[in-house]
Amino acid sequence: MSGTDELYSRALAVLPGGVNSPVRAFRAVGGNPFFVREAHGAHLVTTSGERLIDYVLSWGALILGHDYPAVREALTLAVKRGTSYGVTCPAEVELAERIVEMVPSIDMVRFVNSGTEATMAAVRLARAATGRDLIIKFDGAYHGHADSFLVAAGSGVATLGLPDSPGVPADLARLTMTAPFNDITGIETLFTQYGDRIAAVIAEPFLGNAGFVPPIPGFLEGLREITKAWGAVLIFDEVMTGFRVHPAGAQGLTGVEPDLTTLGKVIGGGLPIGAYGGARELMEMVAPAGDVYQAGTLSGNPLAMTAGVATLDVIRTEPVHEKLERRTRKLVKSLVGTAEAIGIPLTVGHAGAMWGVYFHPGPVTNFAEAKETDTKRFATFHRAARQNGIFLPPSPFEACFVSTAHTDEIIEDTIERLAKALAESTRG
Ligand code: PLP
Repeated sequence: MSGTDELYSRALAVLPGGVNSPVRAFRAVGGNPFFVREAHGAHLVTTSGERLIDYVLSWGALILGHDYPAVREALTLAVKRGTSYGVTCPAEVELAERIVEMVPSIDMVRFVNSGTEATMAAVRLARAATGRDLIIKFDGAYHGHADSFLVAAGSGVATLGLPDSPGVPADLARLTMTAPFNDITGIETLFTQYGDRIAAVIAEPFLGNAGFVPPIPGFLEGLREITKAWGAVLIFDEVMTGFRVHPAGAQGLTGVEPDLTTLGKVIGGGLPIGAYGGARELMEMVAPAGDVYQAGTLSGNPLAMTAGVATLDVIRTEPVHEKLERRTRKLVKSLVGTAEAIGIPLTVGHAGAMWGVYFHPGPVTNFAEAKETDTKRFATFHRAARQNGIFLPPSPFEACFVSTAHTDEIIEDTIERLAKALAESTRG
C-alpha cells in the first residue's frame, strides 16, 4: 500500500467519505483523491511528490495563487499578535472599507466565516426587509449548504446525483422556488403568480456551480427590473465571482447592481471567510444596529481579515484583472482549437479568471443544457490532465480558475499538457 493509499484508508475511517467537503472525494472522476503536502504559486505538491498546476485554487479563493508573499508576510506578522480576539480589530474595518470602495452597491458589510453563512444571513435579511417568505433560486446554482438552498443545487449535489438532501424539511424547501437560469419569462411568471409573497431572488450572476454559464444579455437587467417593480430584494451571490471576474465582481462587469451581495473566497485570501453587504438602509437592519439577528464567535477573525486586506490591496492597486482575463482567454481559445482539430465537441466559457468546459457542442445557457455534458469523457479528461500534471476540479459541474501566479509560460505549458490530455481522452 502506498503512503497515499494508507492515508486515504485512515481518512475513510475518521472522516465521512474521507473528506470534509463532498467533491474532494473525486467520485465524479474516479480514482482516490490525493493529499496535498504544500502549495506555492500556481502549483500543488501532493504527499506522493506529484507537482500539479492548479486550476482549482481552493475553489476560486486564491486569486494571487498559493503562498503569495505579501499575504504570507502579513499573516506571519498577524499570527504573532494572536489568532482570535472575540472583539473587533482594525483589520475588520480595513477590509470592510476596501470592499465598500471597490463594490459600488455595498455601503456596509458584515463578515461571517463562510459563503454558506453569508447567503443564509442575506436571505434572512431580505425576508425581514420585505416581510415575505418565498425566495427564488436558479436551477444548478449553489449557494452553500443551508437548508433553504439545497433545492435544485449544483456542483457537489449535481455531481452526487442528489437533487435534494435528506434532512431538509419539506416545509422549508417549499419556500424556495426554482427557475431555469437565463429564462426571464420564467421569473416573470413566478412573480405574476406569487409576486407579493417573494422576498428575494438570489442568483449567481455567472453560474459557476454548474460548470460555467454566463448570463445572456438582458437576463440580469431583467432580474433587476422585475425585483424592483415587485419590491423584492435582488441578491447576487458573488462568493465565486466577487473580485474574480472584475475588481467589482460580476456586478462591475455587467453593470447590474443588486440590493445585497454575498462574498467569500477571494476576500479571505485563502482563509475561512464570508460576507454580505449592500445598501446602508438594509444593512442597518442587522443586529445590533437593527433587530435582524446574526452573530459569530470567529466572525471578523484577525487572520482572515489580514489575508483579505493583503489580497485586495494587490487587486485594487495593480491591473491584475486585465492580465488574468488575457491569460484565461488564451487558455480557453487554445483548448477550443485543439478540441476542434481532434473532433471533440467542446464548449468552453470564461469571464475574467473563471472558466469552465463542457463536452457538448453547446450552447450552454442553463443547468439542463449543462447536464448534457459527456460526464464520462470529462472523467477521462480529468484523469489524463492529472497524468499530464494539471489539476482540474474533480467534477464536470465546477468552474476552473486562473491566478496571477499562472504566468504566460505556465499557461503555454498548460495548453500543451491539456492538448495531450484531450487527445488521450479520445482513447477512453
Ligand atoms: N455561493 C457560491 C456561489 C459558492 O460557489 C459557494 C461555494 O462554493 C458558496 C456560496 C458556499 O460557500 P462556502 O463553501 O464558503 O460555504
